[in-house]
Amino acid sequence: MSTDVRRVITVLAALLLAALTTTPARAADGDAPSAGQRIAEALRTSPVYVDEAYADAVPPSRQRQLADRIRRTGLPIKVVLTPLTKGDAFDGDSGVLAGIVRDRLQDQRELILITTDGEFPDYLNGYEWPADTHQTRDAVAAAGFLDETRDAGLADLTAEAVDLVAEGKGTQRYEEATKDDAPVSKPGPGGSRWWLWPLVAVPALALTVIAARALVRSRSRKTAPAVPQLVFATARAADEAELRRRAEAEVLALGEATQAADVSTTPDLQHALDAYAAAGRVLDEARGVPDLAGALALAQEGRGALAGSPGLPLCFFNPLHGGAALRTGWRPLGSRDRLDVAVCQDCADALRARRAPEVLTDTDEDGRTVPYFELPAGRSVWAATGYGSLMPPLEGINSRSGRAR
Ligand SMILES: [Zn+2]
Repeated sequence: MSTDVRRVITVLAALLLAALTTTPARAADGDAPSAGQRIAEALRTSPVYVDEAYADAVPPSRQRQLADRIRRTGLPIKVVLTPLTKGDAFDGDSGVLAGIVRDRLQDQRELILITTDGEFPDYLNGYEWPADTHQTRDAVAAAGFLDETRDAGLADLTAEAVDLVAEGKGTQRYEEATKDDAPVSKPGPGGSRWWLWPLVAVPALALTVIAARALVRSRSRKTAPAVPQLVFATARAADEAELRRRAEAEVLALGEATQAADVSTTPDLQHALDAYAAAGRVLDEARGVPDLAGALALAQEGRGALAGSPGLPLCFFNPLHGGAALRTGWRPLGSRDRLDVAVCQDCADALRARRAPEVLTDTDEDGRTVPYFELPAGRSVWAATGYGSLMPPLEGINSRSGRAR
């Protein structure tokens, strides 16, 4: 009985995962499965796939060197160097590419993937399954920030990324490599950076670390439910594309955690699956940072369900601050009622000192940038739920299914 239920849920989760990873690409031009298939097939014979467009930058001799380097690490590392642009088979999103390639290599339980980036040509992205055990995301990200790779070609950059993954100290390396950089000096798509200011303190990295930890914890847990531990990490600049990738990685991690969860010891597994499905839909339809933050909030809700305890939601004022540290009363400007909201320590300190907390903004009907929670609840599910402070995000979504977020 329990084996059957588990099988059904595993299949369901796999379907959801497949839908999640292929839908945006299908929307692009329907070519992703075949493009992903071609890359995955190539990776079965060599751990390094290089698109023709990069054949000059990474000629066959360098490809063989990279393959040797990878073999020496003894790790299941694979490299995909291919141009990514909006509207292509992967909609220019390395997270989509990684998810599809992963799908096609399901027989490999462990996989470390290093890919090119859709936005920044001198930047690589790292993905690892089933969990970020080798700190792959940070290790690969760090490669692009090292002084020695500043003017390096793609082949050298990739070699450095492989070495950093093998070293296994990616988070430390990333922090070292980026600590002197002011947030605005990070590579960016240029143009308007209005969205950067609410993101300056984004612990997106922390969220990923949390996801990985929650994942490990939910797997190692036998009986005693553990509340996912929320931590703050070094401030890190992020842009919307980066946030999207992180949100995708988080949602995928939740999907894998639900797949790995034991039905008999996870009473709220259905809740976790529902939150996972909703997070996938929100990601697919995300129109900006507030929606991407919503996907993170849903992933957080799903992890809480898996852990058997909801814990505190993400910070009310700005969910990108990470998990809340405490609940506190707060009276919105012009309101007589006090709201009970969950806030991170920084925001709690700001309130106590009567400073304005740093808030996540959204755009109102007149195109003005306002705190997201000032939008009418009828217009924004995030204003209505406070990303979990006022109502569980899933409940907010379900109560308005069919209506616009
Ligand atoms: Zn906060």
